[in-house]
Amino acid sequence: MVVTYHRPTRAIIHKKALSENIKNEIKRLPESVELFAVVKADGYGHGAVATAQIALSAGATGFCVATLDEAIELREAGITEPILVLSVVFPSYLSLVVDYDLSITVATKEWLIEAQEVLKDLAKTTTPIKIHIKADTGMGRIGFLTPDAVKEAVEIIEASPNLLWEGLFTHFATADEQDTSYWYKQTARFNAVIDALDHLPRYIHSSNSATALWHDKEMPGNMIRYGVGMYGLNPSGHELAETYPLKPAMELLSELIQVKELPAGEGVGYGKTYDTPKKEWIGTVPIGYADGWLRKMQGFSLLVEGEFCETIGRVCMDQLMIRLPREFKVGTKVTLIGKSKDQEITMQDVADHLGTIHYEVCCTLSERVPRIYQ
Ligand code: PLP
Repeated sequence: MVVTYHRPTRAIIHKKALSENIKNEIKRLPESVELFAVVKADGYGHGAVATAQIALSAGATGFCVATLDEAIELREAGITEPILVLSVVFPSYLSLVVDYDLSITVATKEWLIEAQEVLKDLAKTTTPIKIHIKADTGMGRIGFLTPDAVKEAVEIIEASPNLLWEGLFTHFATADEQDTSYWYKQTARFNAVIDALDHLPRYIHSSNSATALWHDKEMPGNMIRYGVGMYGLNPSGHELAETYPLKPAMELLSELIQVKELPAGEGVGYGKTYDTPKKEWIGTVPIGYADGWLRKMQGFSLLVEGEFCETIGRVCMDQLMIRLPREFKVGTKVTLIGKSKDQEITMQDVADHLGTIHYEVCCTLSERVPRIYQ
């Protein structure tokens, strides 16, 4: 998909907000604890390379991504700090892991056995592959289920000259919830894994943003994986109050491309789901579901000069229509996410309308929308 610069729709990414969110988090961490910025899914839609560079200048010492290709993108952009791939990379891709000097996640014994076979054929392996062992303490996604299984994995890794045990980690399922009982259960399980080992690797990590924000005094580890908080979004949505003010990094803006007055009884949009009840000013905005502004956004109000204007009729692939309180000039700014005069639409408002979480909103914004860094 081509990035569409010649259209007034754009996502503004505020560098200062990203940087301050990271710096504020680092300030709260003991000196021995590092912050790895989570920039998977194109930096949660904010742009992986750009956000990684900002995170780096703000004090991040490494990065987490979900896939091998996301890691390669960062390396190709010149990032030299540690990069951990959080999801499973099939052993058949190990030559790329070596070439790009990446750290990877290991979640099963079978993977380790298969990797040994692949590595036998990889004559060029000079530096050992850096492994982070994932303990599944209750997320039920990937990882070893028991301390004994982790111990066995450590033995296999340490017996292999081509593998280096660099990390041990887990992931919490409910760190963003008021009820902390399951968080404590997972923590106890992770601590049991740590206690069962007679030595530990360079990195121990368990914390996503929610854990870092609400369990900072008790989170196990010497590194945190800071994701959504860096983008200025409260991981819990409405559930828990922010520990310190997070600054939203993304605004989504467009402009009116046509303004017209329709007489009463005229249909608007595909399926004619809206009929003007009376004479109305209608504005057309160049953004639609191909931009990740989904059809379910029908009925959601956008901001024009500080006034909320409802999206009427169906959202089209590339455009949508809003009801204006009066005539506005073509080129008038439309705020889909962000502030307009004394009003604001947050990513959370969009998520609430869609019945989802803000993570999904920023990740869904398509590549067609240019990201402009200010
Ligand atoms: N660690 C892992 C394993 C993840 O999957 C994620 C994100 O989903 C994170 C850390 C970052 O989480 P958050 O964005 O809530 O900080």
